[in-house]
Amino acid sequence: MNGLLRPNKIAVVGASATPGKIGYTVVKNLLEGGYQGKIYPVNPSATEILGLKVYPSIRDIPEDIDAAIITIPAKAVLPTVDELGAKGAKGMIVITSGFSEVGLKELERELVEKANSYGIRVLGPNIVGVLSNSDKMNGSFAPFLPLEGKASLVSQSGALLIAIDAASYIRRVGFDKLISIGNMSDVDFADLITWLNEDPNTSCISLYIEGFRDGRRFIEAARNANKPIIALKAGVSAHGAAAAASHTGSLAGAAKVYGAAFQQAGVVQATDLNDLFNRTLSLSLQPPMKGDNLLVITNGGGVGVLATDAAEKSGVPLKFAPADVQAELKKHMPEFGSAKNPVDLTGMAGTEWYQASIRFAFAHPWVDGLVVLYCETAMTDPLEIAKGIKKAIVDSGVTDKPVTVSFVGGERSEEAMRWLVENGIPAYGAPDLAVNAIAALREYARMKEIVREEAMPCLAQDRERALKIINKARSEGRDSLTEIEAKEVFECYGLPVTPTRLARNEDEAVALAREIGYPVVMKIVSPDILHKSDAGGVRVNIKDDAGVREAFKTIMKNAKEYKATANIHGIAVQEMAPWGTEVILGSVNDPTFGPTMMFGLGGIFVEVLKDVTFRVAPVTSSQALRMLDEIRGAPIIAGVRGEAPRDRQALADVICQYSTMILDLADEVSESDANPVLVYESGKGLKVVDARIILKKK
Ligand code: ADP
Ligand code: MG
Repeated sequence: MNGLLRPNKIAVVGASATPGKIGYTVVKNLLEGGYQGKIYPVNPSATEILGLKVYPSIRDIPEDIDAAIITIPAKAVLPTVDELGAKGAKGMIVITSGFSEVGLKELERELVEKANSYGIRVLGPNIVGVLSNSDKMNGSFAPFLPLEGKASLVSQSGALLIAIDAASYIRRVGFDKLISIGNMSDVDFADLITWLNEDPNTSCISLYIEGFRDGRRFIEAARNANKPIIALKAGVSAHGAAAAASHTGSLAGAAKVYGAAFQQAGVVQATDLNDLFNRTLSLSLQPPMKGDNLLVITNGGGVGVLATDAAEKSGVPLKFAPADVQAELKKHMPEFGSAKNPVDLTGMAGTEWYQASIRFAFAHPWVDGLVVLYCETAMTDPLEIAKGIKKAIVDSGVTDKPVTVSFVGGERSEEAMRWLVENGIPAYGAPDLAVNAIAALREYARMKEIVREEAMPCLAQDRERALKIINKARSEGRDSLTEIEAKEVFECYGLPVTPTRLARNEDEAVALAREIGYPVVMKIVSPDILHKSDAGGVRVNIKDDAGVREAFKTIMKNAKEYKATANIHGIAVQEMAPWGTEVILGSVNDPTFGPTMMFGLGGIFVEVLKDVTFRVAPVTSSQALRMLDEIRGAPIIAGVRGEAPRDRQALADVICQYSTMILDLADEVSESDANPVLVYESGKGLKVVDARIILKKK
């Protein structure tokens, strides 16, 4: 990877003497960027390009090389691999397009296979190239190196990479490297995260993602990184439309599953391109925010209120500063200022007040992060204020807390903010942006606290018995399990299901009901009836033998009316679970991430509000607890209006357990759900009363 991304000797295969051609631009860019290594242009018909000697073939290069930048037509690329192998090349930067993106998957696969057999890694094809400020290497056809900085960006879109390159100067967000990843035939996001994590010139890894080939590899690489990673995921609406037999299937859209994966990987998300710039800036320049206490210092009430709103929205709501903090801050403002939070120094504030309050507040143990706001005034000089802020931060002696700044004003403020960013302090044109930027540093720290935790091993695990049940259904030509079978599978993995047995006639039903104990619930068992209530196939709270006989007749009659051709196995008799809060657990086999868990409240919350959240399996207990807090209906689980809180720990444990089950049965189960699960008050556990498993087609 070093040979590929930090080469000392580069061959440009397809170098051209004709301005306008990519092969010309690449050589020109390498020269203009100030590349210090050796450049070997290769072209059979040219002799000199931009003053460099040209070699008719790779074989003619007088020494070994590290990497080749390839700009020749697609069909000519494969034959170069042997020659590059002979020259000891470690990497191919394949700018050439016309591979898998136009359907030539096989050609691309052959290229990678052959390259890898020589130990050559392939970046691309179909890319802009690699740009690196620290190596003065513009190995691309993007016009120039980006504004210098500490973030490195990996982009799946070439056009966007070129645009970001240019925009970096306007936005004042600096990058060390820009890497175009294209078709990801070989080197993928996971490889680059792992490599950039070791790169001394990168402090933050910024990603523009359209899709992964292997989502789990990404999660693994990101989890193991110890630099902040921020991702903008595009194309979040295209994915969830596939017909799905279960609730979970229809609810699992790309946005939600990717969002879940980012959480588990400890990756901060950007909501849009602006956000990617803004958050990349703070993540690349400032340390993580280790606690929740955010202090805002301002000279204007209006921007203070805007910051307060933004803080709540971005997950770092402001709290009043403790009395001792307030008392000290009061000394640096007029009588009518406010020392609470936001700290309003008032429009009278000059550099000294800013400095004194920042120096004190930043060093105070209560403060975990600081946002400094400034509204341009006639009496103050923005640049002087900016320098004062920087000096106060330095004087405070604190280096492990983040600070962001917002100046609202005209050209003088712009200039002051430029100065701040050049001096390592992220500065933004609006208070909400400064708050959102520091919130990214809080989010990062929070996620990192829990991502490295391993999932608890599943307690009960009777895989063999589960497979037996599944294979029996398959042998009958079915691709779904009945409730009774699904519950048995759940039981194999220790999930608390209501005991459920099959009755083929009234007498059997009565006998089973007595055995289980009244009251009981009776339900139709038919592989052709997935939604039992819709078919009049569920009767609850049956209290005696007569009730059982009556229910048996009614359910049978209803089922036959509902679907005359339905294959009916009989009627399930089961324990009637006491009332509890209804939630749904479910799973899908996501095309990118594999087995994925869903949690939400049951009933209309799922059907109408789609109030659900996801995690890629396996799910740790603390991730599961976070899931409970993520849904809008979270207060219902926490306990509302005098109701006792629900058994959160039991629910989290069951989510954890369920996730191990779907991972263990990944080759068999395509979708599943437990809908509903009845959750009782704290300490009293929960019960799965309905179960569904859809098998993978084989
Ligand atoms: P469906 O196939 O229609 O989803 P369910 O088995 O979920 O059928 O039953 C419908 C409703 O009946 C459930 O949402 C739940 O409220 C109630 N119910 C089902 N089984 C039980 C049970 N064993 N104990 C208590 N309530 C139950
Ligand atoms: Mg149900």
